[in-house]
Amino acid sequence: MKQRVISFHYTLKNEKGEVLDSSAGQEPLSYMEGGQQIVPGLEKEVGQLKTGEKKNIKVAAGDGYGQRDERFVIVVEKSELPQGDVQIGQQYELKSDKGSQVVMVTKVTDTQVTLDGNHPLAGEDLFFDVEVTEIREATDEEAAHGHAHGAGGHHH
Ligand code: ZN
Repeated sequence: MKQRVISFHYTLKNEKGEVLDSSAGQEPLSYMEGGQQIVPGLEKEVGQLKTGEKKNIKVAAGDGYGQRDERFVIVVEKSELPQGDVQIGQQYELKSDKGSQVVMVTKVTDTQVTLDGNHPLAGEDLFFDVEVTEIREATDEEAAHGHAHGAGGHHH
């Protein structure tokens, strides 16, 4: 059986009801089933819906961006970072032989900087309002690449 490509509009809120992200006013998001393009807890639920169907979906942190891992938090000397003002919320890409990792500055003292490599939404329960707009079969090219193409999908 061919994999399906599902397009849907979504609004993502946190536990406090604050909107974190939304596709409103943009193309709906498209993903290919099994392509790990969206968090697992969301994929499981959206895959049950029909075209036009709406649902409020709660995704527990473990099925979302995972739990926080304190091993991804490191403290470095300010002098090790590129010159200039270091500010909370600033992001750096750290490169090593294992690949690259995006880290965010979470604390700054006179001499040290705390860098956090956890996803900003790690450890958070996620609340999605979704509406499925289209369900179709994946093209051969999409199946070969492992992701959805076109508006709202992957661009090369
Ligand atoms: Zn592709």
